[in-house]
Amino acid sequence: MKTFCGRANPTTGSMEWLEEGEDYDYHQEIARSRYADMLHDKDRNVKYYQGIRAAVSRVKERGEKAIVLDIGTGTGLLSMMAASAGADFCYAIEVFKPMANAAVKIVEKNGFSDKIKVINKHSTEVTVGPEGDMQCRANILVTELFDTELIGEGALPTYEHAHKYLVQEGCEAVPHRATVYVQLVESKRMWSWKKLFPVRVEAEDGEKILVPPSEMENCPGVPSVCDIQLNQMPSSDFTTLSDVVTMFSVDFSKPVQSASTYYRVHLEPVKSGKAQIVLSWWDIDMDPSGMINCTMAPYWVKPTSALQWRDHWMQCVYFLPNEEPVLQGEKLYLTACRDEYSVWYNLQKARGGENKADEEEHKADVCVESPVCRCRAHLLWNRPRFGELNDQNRTRQYIKSLRKVLKTDSVCLCISDGSLLPVLAHYLGAKQVQYFFFKANHLEDKIKIIEARPELLKPSHLEDKKISVLMGEPFFTTSLLPWHNLYFWYARTAVSTHLASNVTVLPQSASLHVMIVEFQDLWRIRSPCGICEGFDVQTMDDMIKDSLNFRESKEAEPHPLWEYPCKSLSDPQEVLTFDFTKTVPQHCLSTEGSVNLLRKGKSHGAVLWMEYHLAADISVSTGLMQMSNEKGNCEWNPHCKQAVYFFSSVIESEILSDPTAVTYAINFDTKTGEIAMDFKL
Ligand code: SAH
Repeated sequence: MKTFCGRANPTTGSMEWLEEGEDYDYHQEIARSRYADMLHDKDRNVKYYQGIRAAVSRVKERGEKAIVLDIGTGTGLLSMMAASAGADFCYAIEVFKPMANAAVKIVEKNGFSDKIKVINKHSTEVTVGPEGDMQCRANILVTELFDTELIGEGALPTYEHAHKYLVQEGCEAVPHRATVYVQLVESKRMWSWKKLFPVRVEAEDGEKILVPPSEMENCPGVPSVCDIQLNQMPSSDFTTLSDVVTMFSVDFSKPVQSASTYYRVHLEPVKSGKAQIVLSWWDIDMDPSGMINCTMAPYWVKPTSALQWRDHWMQCVYFLPNEEPVLQGEKLYLTACRDEYSVWYNLQKARGGENKADEEEHKADVCVESPVCRCRAHLLWNRPRFGELNDQNRTRQYIKSLRKVLKTDSVCLCISDGSLLPVLAHYLGAKQVQYFFFKANHLEDKIKIIEARPELLKPSHLEDKKISVLMGEPFFTTSLLPWHNLYFWYARTAVSTHLASNVTVLPQSASLHVMIVEFQDLWRIRSPCGICEGFDVQTMDDMIKDSLNFRESKEAEPHPLWEYPCKSLSDPQEVLTFDFTKTVPQHCLSTEGSVNLLRKGKSHGAVLWMEYHLAADISVSTGLMQMSNEKGNCEWNPHCKQAVYFFSSVIESEILSDPTAVTYAINFDTKTGEIAMDFKL
């Protein structure tokens, strides 16, 4: 069997469908999966085990046999816990074939083959009866089907079906219940991920303000969840306007309904401010009494308890449809709407007294449809991109550089996706700007979009003029790794014949930088687990390792490092430069060298990022923003993902003595636009 995988080609900037062998998808899935992270989640594992033991005891105390249904068994971990706790039999369901195979091996290795039957099916396909997958309905239902939004992985329909067809009435469920919590906040930083703020441009003839069009102002945005490591959001970046409120709960031991519905709570702001964001997280009670609780609450909610780091469950940021000024003590209603897989929020002001009619009126207000972007900007720009465009410091660098290079008779061509550069260039006095327009600012006749690929550009597109300023941020929506934005260089090469002999290219060059780091936590996602709560899960470790090694050279992975603290062990080092004033060379760009380690620590990996040199003395970094202090703490660009290359030998603790330097070999293949790298400790 062949699979087709969509991947952006950094030399053309467009998506291509590559034929890959059957194994490719599977290896990607395993290598980038969260299984390792889940196995390292001690807090989760301990509490599941406690909850499972308690549920098995309750069933046994009733004099019944304990028959367990484990939906989404993964490695088989929760079934093995149940079997060890004395369950009579476990049905372990797993839809993903490679995982079901792994579960069989792991169960066998741990000696539970007679107690656990692994069934490679989606739970809704499982049959019950003498000839069926399960002999009888189960009386204990164990699952771990939750994502950061709780229901995004389809927990509700799965539970609904299981209660109808697979478990007995009055069954025990682990977890017993889940509760979703919310807190209303004002946060310019997070709000900047949804709205385009007005952009101020100091031009020769006074200040000009670029305003977003009204359809964009009122656009509800997109329904996809915004999940982040909220614990990395400093308290100075938001103001809490309400207490933490319980939004809704789901009791997993009773029939569950997955149909769309809404929940509403009464809310009184503890502070006046602008209601913009609903922060949300959940907890699960493993037992009915609520004594065994596993929570995703962020640091300011329970400051005394130790936080468990995990990446498979984080916290959610929801954007209200519009910013709403609220007063301390005022009566508000917060509504959570949900369908089978996602949640969205609405805020309403209570009008006068709380009578029946008022209630009814509010119900009518409830928006039952999930947010759908009408302005199209939310389809073009993801949330970090909105944040980037709203970053005034960054914009200032571009304005300063444009001012240096623009002349009144400049003919500009901009190559970047959804960029504001053409508008800035126009405001700064360029006569003619190609590629982009912005209705709200009445620039239709000043800025022209060319709907052609760079290699198909014709003189007529440019009204037979030559380009005097070629600009880009550069930013392309298809870029995954930092160097994929080098598509700008390929596009620049493609339009070479249209450039004036004295053309200015902005940025004039780019450079690739590398730094060796020790991660506080991120290393866990690539670290083998070995024994998990007494169960040997090495088979899983081996599988992940195999998949990571599937490609001859390991690949760097994109991670937004502002969410994943690390300490620098070396100085940042420039390793390659890309000269945009010239065309892309035919030959590869390679470099070799070494990075000295200045601080003690575990070299978990190398971080790589790009810096763009806009004009003389003006650069923007998509990676490190601040040189680290003596302790090596780093500040990363909050809008970009950096590339992380993990050193598996260190993560797997094979290297015992501290190295003093790391050597590297880095190769930019100009034919493919990809960077291959190798590091040695
Ligand atoms: N139970 C394991 C793994 C949890 S990850 C643990 O706690 O460590 C969730 C797993 O459930 C994934 O492997 C996924 O493939 C599987 N899954 C999700 N929904 C399912 C369903 N309805 N039926 C069968 N498997 C499902």
